Order: sequence, then C-alpha cells, then structure tokens
Amino acid sequence: LLVSVRSGARVSMPGMMDTVLNLGLNDATVEGLARRSGNRRFALDCYRRFLQMFGDVVLGIAGEEYAAALEDRKKARGIRADADLDEEDLMALVGEFRTLTEQISRKDFPENPVEQLHQAIAAVFRSWNNQRAIAYREIHHIPADWGTAVTVQAMVFGNQGNQSATGVAFTRDPSTGAKRFYGEYLLNAQGEDVVAGIRTPDPLVQRTPADGSSLEEKMPEVYARLISTADKLERHYRDMLDLEFTIEQEKLYLLQARPGKRTGQASVRMAVEMAEEGIIGREEAIRRVDPDQLQMLLNPVFSEEEKQRVIREGGLLARGRNAGPGAAAGKVVFSPEQAVAFKKKGEKTILVRSETSPEDIAGMKAAEGILTARGGMTSHAAVVARGMGKSCVVGCSEIRIESDTRQMTVGNRVIREGEEISIDGSTGEVFLGRLLTRESVVHQALMDGKTSGEPNPLVESFTTLMKWVDSTRRLRVRANADTPENAREALAYGAEGIGLARTEHMFFALERIPTVQEMILASTTEERRQALAKLLPMQREDFGRILEAMDGLPVTIRLLDPPLHEFLPRHSKAQEKLAKTLKVSPEIVKAKVESLQEINPMLGHRGCRMGITYPEIYRTQVQAIFEAACALKRKGKDPRPEVMIPLVGIPEEFKRLRRLVVQEAERIMTRESVRLPLIIGTMMEIPRACLVASEIAAEADFFSFGTNDLTQMTFGYSRDDSGGFLRAYQELGVLEDDPFQVLDRSGVGRLVEIATREGKKRRSDLKVGICGEHGGDPRSVQFFHSVGLDYVSCSSFRLPIARLAAARAALESGRNQTERKGRA
Ligand code: PEP
Ligand code: MG
Repeated sequence: LLVSVRSGARVSMPGMMDTVLNLGLNDATVEGLARRSGNRRFALDCYRRFLQMFGDVVLGIAGEEYAAALEDRKKARGIRADADLDEEDLMALVGEFRTLTEQISRKDFPENPVEQLHQAIAAVFRSWNNQRAIAYREIHHIPADWGTAVTVQAMVFGNQGNQSATGVAFTRDPSTGAKRFYGEYLLNAQGEDVVAGIRTPDPLVQRTPADGSSLEEKMPEVYARLISTADKLERHYRDMLDLEFTIEQEKLYLLQARPGKRTGQASVRMAVEMAEEGIIGREEAIRRVDPDQLQMLLNPVFSEEEKQRVIREGGLLARGRNAGPGAAAGKVVFSPEQAVAFKKKGEKTILVRSETSPEDIAGMKAAEGILTARGGMTSHAAVVARGMGKSCVVGCSEIRIESDTRQMTVGNRVIREGEEISIDGSTGEVFLGRLLTRESVVHQALMDGKTSGEPNPLVESFTTLMKWVDSTRRLRVRANADTPENAREALAYGAEGIGLARTEHMFFALERIPTVQEMILASTTEERRQALAKLLPMQREDFGRILEAMDGLPVTIRLLDPPLHEFLPRHSKAQEKLAKTLKVSPEIVKAKVESLQEINPMLGHRGCRMGITYPEIYRTQVQAIFEAACALKRKGKDPRPEVMIPLVGIPEEFKRLRRLVVQEAERIMTRESVRLPLIIGTMMEIPRACLVASEIAAEADFFSFGTNDLTQMTFGYSRDDSGGFLRAYQELGVLEDDPFQVLDRSGVGRLVEIATREGKKRRSDLKVGICGEHGGDPRSVQFFHSVGLDYVSCSSFRLPIARLAAARAALESGRNQTERKGRA
C-alpha cells in the first residue's frame, strides 16, 4: 500500500500547496512493488520520483538538484534529454538521489513508512504558508486563517506503461463555457506531470482531423466511462468540475473533483446555461459569477483587420494554445522579477516562460499576458491565468527561451527583453509588435443595442444574466459621465441616470482654456462677469447635450470643484503666451498665478468655498443648466437636472449656496415660463459634513458621498501622494487593502453610515448615493447596500460590475435575514 499525501483547501488553489506521491517506498518495499507489478523499471521510476518529491517538499531540497543529477546521468550515458532511462540507469539514479538527499539534508532518509507519512503530512500542512500560497491568497482575497486539510489516499499508478495514463478534465470548456467535455492526458505518466506543464499533453476528445492521439481513440471504453462519471459528478455537485484522474492498466480512478477555475466569459455562460438546464436556480447563477470577472468580457480584443495586416507583413510569430482569452500586448520579459520591475515603472509586459510554476505568481499578476513554450490548457500557467483574468497562450513550442541572454528565438528571429509582442489568448496567436485593439463582442452588442449578425452565445448569456441581476438588486446604478458620448455609453451599460457630471472637465477643453483663464485673471467682478458670459453658451450646450442624451433620467451636475490655479499656466513660456492673448503684461499673469498658488490646494480654496467667494461662477453655471433644461422642456423633452454642491463641511455653506441656486434657477424658469422640479443636494466628502448630516439634510434633497475626498480627509492621506507608502503598508500588513480602492468600512464606512442614518432620520425622502471610485468596487458596493444607500454611481465600464455586485448583496442580505429569523 503506497499512498499520496495531498492538500485540500476550502477553495481550490491550483498548484500552490504541496503533494507527496508514492509514499511508503524504501529499499525493501520497492522490491515488493516490482514483484507485484511485474515491472521493475516502473517500481524504480516510482522510487526515484518519491525521493525527489520527499526531498523537495519535506526536506526543502531544491528540485533543480535532482534535475541536474538526472541530466548528468543522461549525458554520461549518451541518452537524449527527453528519452527515458532504462532499469539499470534508474537503479543507479535512485542511489544518487538518495545520497544527494542525505548529504544536503544531513539526515538519514526515513526508511520507516509511518515516519515518512508523519513528515509528509506536516509538510503539506506547512505548505499553506509558503510564499506562493500566500501570494495567491492575497490576489484572490482568500482568508489566511482558513488553513488546509490533508488527504491521504491510496496510490494508483499512471506510469505503468502505455495502458496507463494520467490526466485532467473539465466537465465544460473553462475558456468559453461551452457545454463540451474537455481535457488532456499523458500516457505513462504520474499525476503532477500534467499540471507541471513539463510535457505537452494530448487531448481527451478526438480532434478533427483525427490523428489517433486522443484518449477517445486510444482507450474508447475508459473514455466512455470517464464521460459518464464526469456527467454524474457535475449533476451531483451542480457545477463545472475540474477532475483529476489516473488510468492504471485501463482501469479508471478519479483522484479529485473540485469546481473548476474559469474565465469571466465561461463563468457567465455556464451560470446562465446551467440555470436554463435546471441544474441551478437563477439566484445561484447570480452568485456564481464574480463581479470582478465581468471585466474580462468587456475588455478590448485585437481587431481582425489589424491581425490580417500584420500576418500579411509576416508579423505572425508563432501559434500556441488559446488558454486565457483576451488581447494583450507589452514588452517581453523572461522572469517574474522583471515583470514586477517593469510594472513598477508603469510599463506593460508579456511574461514569457518555458512553463510557469507557482513561484511565478507575483510576476503573472504584474504582466498583461502570459506566454509559455510548454504545457497544455490545464497547465499551471493556463489555470492561474484564467483565474486572474489574464490573456494567456501556452504550449507555444516554436519559441526557444534563452534566459541567460534574456532573449528568445522563433525560427531565425531573435526577440530581446523589452521588445514588444502581442498575444491573442482567444486564438493562441503570437505577433511581433503592438497590435491595435477593438471592442469586445459584448461591448459592441451593448453599444448597438442588439446582437448584430449571428446570435452569439456569450452575448446572449450576458444579457440574460443582467436581466436577472436587474430584477434582483435594490440599489440603483448611475454613471459618472461628463460628455454626451460618455452618457450614451453609460446608457448602454445600464445606467439609470448620471450620478456625477464633473463640470471642470468641460472647462479643461483646449479651446476653452483661454476664456477660463481670462475669468480667473479678472481683477474685478465686472471683468469676471464678462469672461463668464463667454463661457455661458459653451456650458449651456454641454449641459443640453448631456440632458438630452439622458432624457427622462436624473443627471447630477456638480458645480465647479477644483482650485482655480489648476487652470492657469505654470511655466513662463505659457504665461507669456497667455499675457499676449489677454493683452496684459506677463508680470501681471505671473503675479496672479503666484497669488493663487496654495501649499495644500486639495484643502484650499476649492469647491463650495469658491462658490461662496466668487458667487458669479456658480451663478453662471446654474444659469447654463436651467437655460439648457428649459429649452429641452420646450421641445417636449424630459430633462431632469439635479444640482450638486461640492465640498460642503458647514451647513451654512450649503444653505447659502442653495439659496443662490434657487434664485438663479427661478429667475431663468420665470423668464422662460417653464417649470422644472428643483433638486439641489450636496457632496458628502468632508468628515465634518457626515457628523452634522442631520442639519444639512434639513436643507438638501440628496447626499452623494464623495468617498475619494472622504477617504483622503478621514485618513489624512493625500489622494495624489500616498501611492508609495500605501504599497508598503499593504506589503507590511499594516493595511489589508488600499482604502482608495476598497472602502474602509470601520472608519470611512462608519461616517457614511452615520450620515445616511441621521440624514434619512431628518428627512425620510432624502436620496443618498455615492459617486467616488468605490461605487464600482464590488466589496464596497456590498457595504453601500447594507447601510441603505439608494444608488451607486461609477464609471460606465464598471456599471455591469456594480449591478451584479448590488444583486449579490441583495441576495446575501436576504439570506442573512432568513438565517436570523431561523435562529430566532
Ligand atoms: C470624490 O471626492 O469622491 C468625488 C467623487 O469627487 P472628485 O473625485 O472629483 O474629487
Ligand atoms: Mg471630491
């Protein structure tokens, strides 16, 4: 009885923890195995494998030590590197491995199988805390305190000759989600050989044209049994499974079944199709799709014309297997360390490796895409890349990597580190240079409002899932959008309004900057009014186009927020140029720029503070909004502007500015004889505002949390300068997440909660939303749902993610309530 000792965490972490196979072998039992199997070569091969794995996993001896010994022996005997050793050589190698193990570990190799077993179990438990498992957990947000189980299983042998094999199968295609059995195997091999990506395996299912290599052709009966077992298991576990199996002398053994890693595309398609097949319910389908994974469906792909052009010009370098869909381009790097170093410099990379190993995880995360020379669809690179949502091409055997000189050759072409390549993870193609991309099919279908041409199963699944999502969520979703183009995109992505139109983006337009500068440099109110009068028609047109694009939906327009000096030229050349246009002396411009300079502009003269000191700026903006809205209303449209005051910290600030907005809006509506509801609210982005929310709510129609500034001011971390130390904080474990990405629940979240509760208590119809970056972050969205916000607003591309996150939050709180009731 030989055993394998395997890890088994609550969620699969492919290849991250350790396994010991063939345990129980020693100088005596190896003879027993030889007798029982009638195959002494096989028994010795198992022993060699065991010594190596035990040395590596239990005693911490680098795998390369053994690989070098194996290579030396092959060289000495004049045997090809990829050929097998015969019995005599294996016998000698076993002796060498054993000596090597004892020399390096300075311990006797444990002959006693029980002793071997105890040591191996302890080592597999320990492997929960190896560097690669830790890195994997960080990337996938898996709690470190879960720990792993250890399974001790009787061995079966896939390396007993050509009637034996080992393989991995997926009950559905993990790349596309199509309902087709999928997998790979290696004849005469043992468990880890497939996942390790050392040999490129053959397919389970017969290829067209058939080449005789598939399991279906080689062992039809075993294949049929594998299919029916896979089907039974999938129905039992009600999910796509990743199966590991071994065939020993044509007998099938299942080693492991776990939910398979999948791409975003596959995740959506499988969830919807399984619900439609009646395997799972709709709610479960919603729970099955991780919101972050939706991004993959929306990311750009290479344009077909561009590919054809590059192919005509001879730029198609090689073809491998399409392991992780999507387009990626970047500079070639050959080590994970380089991928990380380039990323720090802000450069995109493609990590090229012979095969990846779990040590490469940080580099894989840093790279845009992964290309390997060896390995199949179930290799480490493929599985991990799909889990991370990275584009990945594997088994690209035409490339030769020369790590020492940091280059690779493909045919007679040499590509050095730093040169650009592009990989298409959906087709397996590798191109020289950087290819242009085009929008994904899902994006196109959304923008067209229909599926053009052939029905596409991915688009159909996505549309169906979003329908289910929208009927499940309670939170409304709006978009942060500043232009009519943005607004149209937002609608296509499911926006139910605009939650933040930043008007400064209109001011920054190149042709407007001189007028804006004129307004800022004005030395009297009268001069400023004249400049503002020039800006009025431009703003009116902008607002009109956005309101029209969002007809019938709310559009929250925020009055000017940033400090004025942001619009002024910094350098003397530009100042001189401005002086000329304005017909003033360069000294005047320089002096004005200097007088506006602030040491701490984010805490300076900005937002409503500017609205109070220069009321004519806000007044002009309000005039533009209401003139645009009245004109639309006259045309029979349904414009719904909401005016938002930024950076309020004192109720009096809001009171005064509200009065200003009301006066100006009334003036315009009376003049135009048009009535529109007046909706005036505030950003909640200063901690003080959250603490006096009740007083502000007495006057405001809505609150919108600006969690970017609120995070900045609650932590006292500059939004613009905190990158460096925040990374260190995360690495050191001082902070788990970057609070500018994931809302800090206990601090910033507490302020959000207090302000929402007190605001709604004062005024029950107060609308409360959030428009900071956190509005598109799934974990933050869950929090906003739980504290009773009415809507989240985020960039258009994050909208589907926010919608799904909101639906999942609704399901989660429903479940918690049921559980609470149950306990009561
Ligand atoms: C915020 O502070 O969260 C916000 C949405 O405003 P801005 O990012 O424009 O400061
Ligand atoms: Mg802000």
